[in-house]
Amino acid sequence: MSGVIGIYSNSSVSTKLFFGLNSLQHRGQEACGMVVSDGENLNRERGEGLVIDVFNENMIKKLSGNIGIGHVRYSGAAGSHDYNTEPLMGFAKGNEFALAYDGALVNHQILRTRLEEEGVMFQTSIDTEVILYLIARYYKGNIVDAVKQTMKVIRGSYSAVLLMKNKLIAFRGPSAIRPLTIGESEDSIIVCSENAPSEIIGIEKIRNVLPGEIIEIDEAGIKSYFSDEAKRPRHCIFEYVYFAREDATLDKVNAYNYRRRCGEYLSIEAPCDVDLVVPVPDSGIPSAIGYAQEAGIPFATGLVKNRYMGRTFIKPTQEEREMAVKLKLNPLRHVIEGKRIVLIDDSIVRGTTSQNLIKRMREAGAKEVHMRITSPPVCYPCYYGIDTPSRKNLIAANMSVEEIRERIDADTLAFISPEAAQRATLIREDRFCKACFNGDYPVDPIVI
Ligand code: AMP
Repeated sequence: MSGVIGIYSNSSVSTKLFFGLNSLQHRGQEACGMVVSDGENLNRERGEGLVIDVFNENMIKKLSGNIGIGHVRYSGAAGSHDYNTEPLMGFAKGNEFALAYDGALVNHQILRTRLEEEGVMFQTSIDTEVILYLIARYYKGNIVDAVKQTMKVIRGSYSAVLLMKNKLIAFRGPSAIRPLTIGESEDSIIVCSENAPSEIIGIEKIRNVLPGEIIEIDEAGIKSYFSDEAKRPRHCIFEYVYFAREDATLDKVNAYNYRRRCGEYLSIEAPCDVDLVVPVPDSGIPSAIGYAQEAGIPFATGLVKNRYMGRTFIKPTQEEREMAVKLKLNPLRHVIEGKRIVLIDDSIVRGTTSQNLIKRMREAGAKEVHMRITSPPVCYPCYYGIDTPSRKNLIAANMSVEEIRERIDADTLAFISPEAAQRATLIREDRFCKACFNGDYPVDPIVI
C-alpha cells in the first residue's frame, strides 16, 4: 500500500508534488520522496517520515523542473529500511529512469531470483526495483514498448509512475486492482492514486486509468496504449472499506457514499437497541452516520482521535500496536458514561483494536457496548498490497462470530453481509476483488 503521483506541467512541479503527496499521506506514513526532471537530469529528495517532516522549503526549491513523480510509502512486508524509500532511480543505456509504485507482485521472488542468478545485485528489497530493472532491460528506445514487455512478465497488482528526463509514463495493472487516476487542466496533467491531489491543485477533468492502460505524457500531449494483458477490472473493495480517503471516487465508487450506505444496510441487517451510535474514527464515521440516520438513533463522538499519529498497522509488534491504539483513540467519558453504545468500525483484522476499544469504553462507563462492522469478516490474506497478516493472525479465519464476540467482549457483534457490502458499491459484482472476504483471488497468488 502506497500512494503515487506524477505531474507534467507548464510550470514548476515540486510544490504541486508536495501538496499532492500531503493529500496522499493516508496511503503511507513510513517514508516519502520525489524526483523531478530539470530537463537534463533527474534530481531526487526523499526520507523517512511524513511528507511535512521530510520536505522543507529549500529542498522543494532545489527540485526545479516541470515533470516529476512522488511516492508515500507504507512499509508492509518488505520492512522499513531507508534503502526502500521511493521513487527509485536507475541509469541504463544513456537514460535516467525513476519509478514510484503501489501494489504487490505475486511473482516478485521468482523474478528476483532469476535476475540474481544472472548476476544482478539489488539494492532494495522491494518489487519496485525488479520492475525498474525489467523496464530498463527491455528499453530499446521506446519506453512504451519496454513497459508493455515488463507487463507481460510481472504478475500481481500495480499502479506506477515512471519518469524520464522529458517524459512521464503511468501504467496500471491488467486487473486494475490498485487505483490510479489522471487529471488534466490547461497547465498540468496529474496521474495519482486518488483524485484528491488533482482536486486540490484545481483540476476538474479527472478519470480513472483503465485496466492495463499505459499513458505516455510528453510535449506531444497525452497518448494512451493498452497492454495485451488487459483484463476485466477487479478493483480492490478494501479501498472503499478502509484505505482510500472519503473524498476518493475510484472507478466510479465514492468512498464516503459507499461507507454511508454500508452503515445504512447494516442498521437494517443488524439493528441494535441503544442510546448512541459511536464511530471508530475516521473510516467508521460515514458508516456510523448511515447507521444512525437509518435507525433514528443519535450519532455521537464517543472516541477522540489523535490526528498526529500514524495508522495502527504501522507499529510492527503486537505490544506496540496495542499502545498505538490507546494513544490514537481515547473514549469521551462525558458522552458515553451510563449509555448503551453501538460502536461502528470498518473492519476487524487481528481483533486488537476492537478488543482494546470495548474494554476502554466500559472503563469509561458505557453500560453496554455493541459492535457493528461494515465489512464482511476478513478471512483471507491480501497478496495485492493491503497489509493483512497471514491466516493464522486473522481472527475471522480462526473463530466464529460468536467466538470473536466473546474474545473482544462485545454485548453483541455483527458484520455486514457480503451481499449488502456488494450492493453498496452500486456496481456489478464481477468488477471487484473481494479476495480478503471470500478467497477468490483474481491473480493466482501461488506462482510456480
Ligand atoms: P485490528 O486491530 O487488527 O482488528 O484492525 C482493525 C482496525 O484497523 C480497524 O479499526 C480498521 O479501521 C483498521 N485497519 C483495517 N485494515 C487496515 C490496514 N490494512 N492497515 C491499517 N489499518 C487497518
